[in-house]
Amino acid sequence: MKYKSSAIRAQFIGSLRTKGQAVAYAMDGYMRHNFGVELFITSIIRENSQQHELGFAFDIRTTSLTWEQGDELLAFINRAFDYASDRVVVVDEREPGSSPNWSAPHFHGQINYRNGTKWI
Ligand SMILES: [Zn+2]
Repeated sequence: MKYKSSAIRAQFIGSLRTKGQAVAYAMDGYMRHNFGVELFITSIIRENSQQHELGFAFDIRTTSLTWEQGDELLAFINRAFDYASDRVVVVDEREPGSSPNWSAPHFHGQINYRNGTKWI
């Protein structure tokens, strides 16, 4: 697992919820085993997203994967982890403009807070 900065590494350990960590470790393992590439986490805590601000989301770099590898990873992880609503755990945000504050191709990992909080 790689991190964009030491601050993001600290956020991974101290602020990202446990299930989010588990999703990231599973993605890293799948990528290493199948593609020989490590997961690279670019963002966890930030203020322009409630999910990110509260430690329920993380973003990963996708430029080290081919498009087909990215599709395969998404299919695997979204079969393995259930978000428990009509959303998926890992969202494809590789295309420009695919999210409101889009700045670079990435996958957005998100976990559902099961204690009544709505994210919409
Ligand atoms: Zn995100």
